[in-house]
Parts: sequence; C-alpha cells; structure tokens
Amino acid sequence: MRDGIMLLYHSEIFEKHNTGNHPECVARIANVNAMLEKKGWIKQSTKPNWLAATVEQCRRNHTESYIEQLHRWCDQGAGRVESDTVVSIGSWDAATLGAGAACDAVRRVFNGEDTQAFCAIRPPGHHALQDAPMGFCLLNNISIAAQCARTLGCHSVLIVDWDVHHGNGTQASFWEDPSVGFVSIHRFPFYPGTGRKEETGAGAATGTKVNIPVPADTGPKSFLDQLATQTEKLAQKIKPDLILLSAGFDAHVADPVGGLSLEAEHYFEAGKWIAGLAREHCQGRLVSLLEGGYHLQHMPECVDAHLRGMTA
Ligand SMILES: [Zn+2]
Repeated sequence: MRDGIMLLYHSEIFEKHNTGNHPECVARIANVNAMLEKKGWIKQSTKPNWLAATVEQCRRNHTESYIEQLHRWCDQGAGRVESDTVVSIGSWDAATLGAGAACDAVRRVFNGEDTQAFCAIRPPGHHALQDAPMGFCLLNNISIAAQCARTLGCHSVLIVDWDVHHGNGTQASFWEDPSVGFVSIHRFPFYPGTGRKEETGAGAATGTKVNIPVPADTGPKSFLDQLATQTEKLAQKIKPDLILLSAGFDAHVADPVGGLSLEAEHYFEAGKWIAGLAREHCQGRLVSLLEGGYHLQHMPECVDAHLRGMTA
C-alpha cells in the first residue's frame, strides 16, 4: 500500500482563508507549500484524495449552533469575529478541508495504509472551543480528528501539543474524557492564560491531561527533556493506539508571536523523538497537524526539520 514515505496533505485551498494583515496569513501556507515542493517532500510522499469535513464530523466536537454560525460568518466574509480571529469568504472551504485532512489522515493511518501523516493546513485549531472561535482558530482540527479516531474503534488517543501556546480548546474538549490523553508544553504566563500544572482533567479523566508551563527563558534542551519525560510517563499510563500531534512552530527563537529559544534543528530532534514514541507504543501511528508558527522563513524550515526527524 505504501508508495510514499508518508501521507502528506497539502492544498492551495488553504490560501483561500484570507486574513489580510494578520500574523496567521496566507503567506504562511504558501511558503510551506513552496518548501514542500522544493525539498522534495511532495515527490516523496503520498498525497491522498480527501474531502472537507462534513457537518456531522465537525459536530463530534463542536455545537451545531456554532457550526451554523461559522458557516454564516464565512458566507458573509464577516471579518473579525473574535478579538484575534478573522473570517473571510474562503474560510469555510479552508477550515473544513483542514479538519477533513485530519480525519482522513487518522482513518488511513488507523487502517494501516501508512504509519505517518503530516497535514499542512490552516487555519490552526487548538484554541478553538466547542462553541466559539478563538486565537486564530475556527475548527479544532485535532479534537475533531481524535473524535473520528474513536468512531473507528480507537480506544486510546494521545494528543501531544508543542505549540508555544497552551492548547486550551483541545484540553476543554476532552477534560472529562479518559480515552484521550493530552500533553501540552507552553510558555507561561502567556496567551491564552490556561495550562497550569494543576489542570489535570476531571472525574474519570483526572490525570490524563498533563500541562507543562515553562518560563520565557527556558532553553531548548530543557523544553525537549520536559516534553519527553512527561509524555512518556502519560503514554505508559494510557497506552495509546494512535498519537496525534499539534505541531506548532512558534517556540522558534525568531517567532514574532510566540518565541522561546528553539531553532529549526530542535524540531528535527522532536520529530525523531515523537516518531520513536509512536513506534514504541502504537506501531508507529502518528498524525501531525500544523498549528502555529508565524515567522515566514523560519516556520517552513522548522516544518522541513520536523518531517526529516519524523521520517529519519
Ligand atoms: Zn501558537
């Protein structure tokens, strides 16, 4: 079945989400797509045919009234719908195609068509709440994907979020759900203000959410060590069938929005580490989704390093 080194989801439709002069801009994905072509990823990978997420798939994570509202905003090209979040005419197609990529990748990886997938998608998703947009995010791609995994019979999903911001939307989706483990490492105190160590889930899910808040002066080694230690501990505990990654690249030293002290090659190490973790726990099944990362040159370099690490 495997004719490429991984499944790679990329499309010019993600450029239809026009945000104007906003850090989460069209040039981000245009530059990622150019890098994927230039570095040979498109040639070496399998590009699946996939469809936009259906309303039914989105409803596994979002409320019906929010999905309807989002669709109306997009039809109207409503502009700023939340303090940080912009919607244009093309946003519905981009957002649903991104969530659809995440679901399709989960299905193919869970069915054994390939072990690894990377989704070069936008808008990002991990801040989106079940009933509202937030922080550049419209649909919570990774939450929708985790819900899809469960409908396929996946008993335990591990979501790892190394975006520099806390994945508050994802955490909220699975706060009381013990079948989805969640680890987030993020700069703290920082946007969106959540992600304290004490936030570990509720009820039967207590202990399945792990937050690693780190100060702004945290070095790359400490960042990666803490992420690996805490994630390995949680993986032992929840025994995942599948690992999903919120791959943000805004912990890069030059990132204009986030920024810690990571450089592109640290994402090579991180990619290698998480692919190894997936091999150890779930036959290598790993689906990585692009989240943040706002430096127009460095972010695509970080994606390249991440993919080199994953496939090393
Ligand atoms: Zn971020």
